[in-house]
Amino acid sequence: MKPRTLVVLDIDGTLCASPAVPERRGDLDFRAWERRIAAAGADLPLVHGAAAGVARVVEAGLPVALVTARRRTLEAATRTWLAAHLPALAAAPLRMRVCELPSKALRAAQLRTLHLEHEEPELLVLDDGPIEVELPGLRAFRAPAEWEAFALAVAAAAW
Ligand SMILES: [Mg+2]
Repeated sequence: MKPRTLVVLDIDGTLCASPAVPERRGDLDFRAWERRIAAAGADLPLVHGAAAGVARVVEAGLPVALVTARRRTLEAATRTWLAAHLPALAAAPLRMRVCELPSKALRAAQLRTLHLEHEEPELLVLDDGPIEVELPGLRAFRAPAEWEAFALAVAAAAW
């Protein structure tokens, strides 16, 4: 039997063309960034290639999870943006920031948790940042350049 596959999509820089996280005294200022995201609401555009890529992912019929460094306070704004731009993903499980880990460590923790919760499926991950965690069956693709290759890998996994 073929191992089960979970499709994992990052949001900012992968689906949503959001502003960069501003710096303040040499540190990333996530609070200021979150205020900008909340203020923009559904106005933030899609990343180039995301609409077509998501259509192909949805067509493949595999389960999808969303991962983000956004905090829970942005959940409603995030759902609103998804409903406006990618309604097929609006109900997908959403793993948000729950601690102050640096973003690469946060993403690694989120992927490890998904891997355990879903009984160690193959993970096909699309993220605009580097994935620095090794898990059996994990394949990472870089957005936006690898949207096409990612969609092909998802279709192949569903075949
Ligand atoms: Mg991102």
